[in-house]
Amino acid sequence: MADLRGGIDLGGTKIQTAIVDAEGKVVGEARHPTPTEGGPEDVAEAMAAALREAADEAGVETSALKGVGVGSPGDADDADEKTGVVSSARNLPDWEGSFPLGENLKEALGTEVKIGNDVQVATEAEFHLGAGKEFESLLGVFWGTGVGGGLILGGKPWLGRGAAGEIGHMVVKQDGAKCPCGRRGCLEAYAGRKAMEAEARERHEDGEKTDLFKLMEKHDKPRLTSGIWERALDHEDKLTEELIEHAVEALGTGIGSAINLIDVEAVVLGGGLGIRFGERLMEPLTKEMGKHLFVNERPPAMRVASLGDLGGAIGASLLVSR
Ligand SMILES: [Zn+2]
Repeated sequence: MADLRGGIDLGGTKIQTAIVDAEGKVVGEARHPTPTEGGPEDVAEAMAAALREAADEAGVETSALKGVGVGSPGDADDADEKTGVVSSARNLPDWEGSFPLGENLKEALGTEVKIGNDVQVATEAEFHLGAGKEFESLLGVFWGTGVGGGLILGGKPWLGRGAAGEIGHMVVKQDGAKCPCGRRGCLEAYAGRKAMEAEARERHEDGEKTDLFKLMEKHDKPRLTSGIWERALDHEDKLTEELIEHAVEALGTGIGSAINLIDVEAVVLGGGLGIRFGERLMEPLTKEMGKHLFVNERPPAMRVASLGDLGGAIGASLLVSR
């Protein structure tokens, strides 16, 4: 009982929490929507409530946990592991400045709190407990709203000076499409769900035929979720096929370039779209990547993340013992 840890994965749309034992087994979990209004205090309150719910399920008080780790969005050097201050978490409500998230949660939960980067901790979870277990080096690619990346080199997380792994902002086309980050030609500008939705919307408004937005309304979704993209693909929606194909080309180009530089043993594909489409698109993705590999007789192993939606929270819990 003394060795239970808490993990909180703070996402733009949901807060996923887990209570994890020393072997990495999840013994309690909860999921709450991320508040869309208010500010950092409201988000922190929702995080504490979601963790308490998971702790209840595990039959433990939060103050009895060995500690709680948080995987937070924002650049790794902003999500400061030492001070627990999170700055400019752009996808969260009114979070432009800095907020002492670590301190705030420590007080609410009565235990130590450590903060890390969401994508990096999810990569570490796959490395220790998931699809990357058998490898010493890997690249985690999290294909969702944006495209995030995490690195394990020589059995250890590689954070660079704090901002390593940003594969979503590798340039796959010079002077290419505008990326949500404000630059041009990034991988995320072609493969991020947000960028794909913006492109689909623009072309739909220009009169191009697609069922994407009809499906979105029919299933009562506020945006084009990965489930909506999958349904449209199943319907052989032409615009969907084209945008997914472009996304796969961009992912293959970015991953191939990254492999040329760091030559890791494996690529683990996660994230909302990555988990949903991983099995289905792994073959075309591997083919696209192969086109760019300098040494292509020895491609990296390609795996779909195996911890699913819980990977981020499990990875966050690992911060406690780091
Ligand atoms: Zn970018």
